[in-house]
Amino acid sequence: AARLCSGAGGAAEAAGGDGAMLRHLARKLRASGPVTVAEYMREALTNPGQGYYTRRGGVGESGDFITSPEISQVFGELIGIWYISEWMAMGKPSTFQLVELGPGRGTLTEDILRVFKQLASVLSKCDVSVHLVEVSPKLSEIQAMMLTGGKVQPNPEDELAYMKGISKTGIPIFWYRDIQDVPPGYSFYLAHEFFDALPIHKFQRTEKGWREVLVDIDPEVPDQLRFVLSPSRTPATQNFIQPEEARDHVEVCPEAGVIVQRLASRIEKDGGAALVADYGHDGTKTDTFRGFRNHKLHDVLSAPGTADLTADVDFSYLRKMAQGKTATLGPIKQREFLKNMGIDLRLQVLLQNSGDTATREQLLHSYDMLMNPEKMGDCFNFFALLPHHRLVHPDKKDKPKSPLPPVAGFNELLLK
Ligand code: SAH
Repeated sequence: AARLCSGAGGAAEAAGGDGAMLRHLARKLRASGPVTVAEYMREALTNPGQGYYTRRGGVGESGDFITSPEISQVFGELIGIWYISEWMAMGKPSTFQLVELGPGRGTLTEDILRVFKQLASVLSKCDVSVHLVEVSPKLSEIQAMMLTGGKVQPNPEDELAYMKGISKTGIPIFWYRDIQDVPPGYSFYLAHEFFDALPIHKFQRTEKGWREVLVDIDPEVPDQLRFVLSPSRTPATQNFIQPEEARDHVEVCPEAGVIVQRLASRIEKDGGAALVADYGHDGTKTDTFRGFRNHKLHDVLSAPGTADLTADVDFSYLRKMAQGKTATLGPIKQREFLKNMGIDLRLQVLLQNSGDTATREQLLHSYDMLMNPEKMGDCFNFFALLPHHRLVHPDKKDKPKSPLPPVAGFNELLLK
């Protein structure tokens, strides 16, 4: 099954792994006291030695969770078409960078590049390059294998990239640890199940006011972690809780906010668009922090470093952090976005072209996973950042000769 869309906590599993991360955290907590959930999450996921993503990052069927691009090639193909349709609507600029944040196994980029190749006649005069932002050395190796067949150059001298190569379809690919290292320029950004992996702060309303949830060592049980509340307000409670907040429990992901600010500034300055797809809400949910191991819910405090930790993305926060530098669209449900992108027609073509029953069953099954409201159809959302002039003609007095084309996915796809 895919990662579930709601429900926190879950049955505690027996601690696994070699326990190195837990020992490291326990030492740290004993020496300097409780840490924020954000710090705990950052250590558990991306600690350079023992972090979950650093060591393996189990995306895929044999891993801990499965994502839409791993379920069906159609998903990535439709996203590839989204970029082409936006590129056309924006007047076919002569060059663009495709920048993916957290590419996992590289499957989504692979599917997008296949579409770019199939539509080579449309893109023929456009200079395309791919830029992957990935902190995990292990996953960047898997991506390099998938996209280039392993032919990569580590630490190229002339770039900020830590690795570069050429895709099987002949497009240059670069790897970075941070979005700030990606060269400026007209760019299409993609973040699929990326923001949900970034560290969150958690806050609880109490009789004495807002308190931050912290992670501490349990004094009664050796090497067991537990949640505690900060005895007083923390800097984060002051900065992140709005006075009009009505919920009793709130999660905030400042790192997501910083990245969206960067994306919005870059799009405002150099042009392009960003497509964000993730499970999430519009500022309404409370406790969504959860862990996954081996496709099952996993206690977030048990055996850190051996399970994926994740929290729903707050799209209202992302919209706020774009700070009006770009327009935003969505969130719109995955099933509506994919329907608008023409998934039904694509499915029909693939079904007609497939001779054997097993392939047809597989196609129908993966369509159901992506589209069924009870599976991934409703809880995954699409959200976009676009230059203002893409949605509203810059000079309203000067009536445009032709109206601006609608943005595909958020409206029905019209390819001319
Ligand atoms: N987009 C992929 C993978 C999602 S898993 C898919 O949908 O299948 C999250 C990805 O983000 C992994 O590749 C992980 O290594 C990467 N990641 C996590 N934290 C990151 C960070 N702070 N900076 C860059 N990449 C990060």
